[in-house]
Amino acid sequence: MTAAAAAPAAPPRTAMLEVADLSITVRRGADRKPILASVSLTCAKGEIVGLVGESGSGKSMTLRTAVGLTPEKADVSGQVQVSGRDVLGASPKELAEVRSRTASMIFQDPRAHINPFQRIGTFLTEGLRLHQGRSKAEATRMAAALLAEVGLPDPDRHLRQYPHELSGGMLQRVMIAAALAGEPELLLADEPTTALDVTTQAEIMSILLRLRRERGLSIVLVTHDLDLAVACCDRIHVMYAGSIVEAASATELARAPQHPYTAALFAARPAPDRAELRAVSGRPLGLYEVERGCAFAPRCPRAVDVCHDVAPRTRENDGHRVTCHLEESAEAGQGAAEASGTLTRPLTPLTKGERS
Ligand code: SF4
Repeated sequence: MTAAAAAPAAPPRTAMLEVADLSITVRRGADRKPILASVSLTCAKGEIVGLVGESGSGKSMTLRTAVGLTPEKADVSGQVQVSGRDVLGASPKELAEVRSRTASMIFQDPRAHINPFQRIGTFLTEGLRLHQGRSKAEATRMAAALLAEVGLPDPDRHLRQYPHELSGGMLQRVMIAAALAGEPELLLADEPTTALDVTTQAEIMSILLRLRRERGLSIVLVTHDLDLAVACCDRIHVMYAGSIVEAASATELARAPQHPYTAALFAARPAPDRAELRAVSGRPLGLYEVERGCAFAPRCPRAVDVCHDVAPRTRENDGHRVTCHLEESAEAGQGAAEASGTLTRPLTPLTKGERS
């Protein structure tokens, strides 16, 4: 009897976005303000990766840097690659190509990113004519098809409308249609549902999940909504003060958050079975305010002396990355959860089938 042949190893998934050791310091006169420190993350083809954290934690800055939108007068180090192309060293022409054909962004407030005096049709066909050399008739047909794809019921009428004639949810669909016009492989979604009501949020997220399935899109989702990230993402990175403090699969993060900050975020979620809201105590710090030690130390219920003096190292175990001094990091997370409130409401990540 011959030994069974070993199963062939699964081919490595192509990384659509690779950020490695990204640090940014903004210069203001003689002042130097670090805003990102050693951020590393990847998003593979067809994957949805979440970036979660409070306002000012560096989520949006990380996302914008992925398409070369760095602040003026900034020192940027590290590596950013989109579909294998270097972004930080790219020329303006190369960056324009990446933004028009490979990676598109969706922003939180669609009204802030669309000319109120321009018809929806003009807004959508402009890029198709400019970047793809389509004729007016062809661009109009394509724009109508894109509006239909994002679930707008009467595309021809919407093309003739102005932004003020559409609701926030409809306008966000227009923005998604615009983002799809260049047939990107990577969608960078910066709080795409934050300004919307709960029902519309769900509709927009189901459109994004469908697009991922039908077009094989990779999506990086920036959100402060941990429930949303757990439900929709394959993997989640938690950011605090310009750094990633924990990264794991959505299922693993919901099952056993290991960093005290992640645990405190979970504990701060509103729950139907308790009346009071629990906030993470204290004020979030910017990276530039941290002189030494762990940035979370002033708010951390598990902080010990060393936390205030020495920055913690990052440890990785089975794909779960945590930056914390506490060795028993699962206990660290649980201890923090107990100190900030209990994890009373179970999180329910979508199954792989439901997510796709
Ligand atoms: Fe808390 Fe210390 Fe861990 Fe920072 S290093 S999260 S202060 S226990």
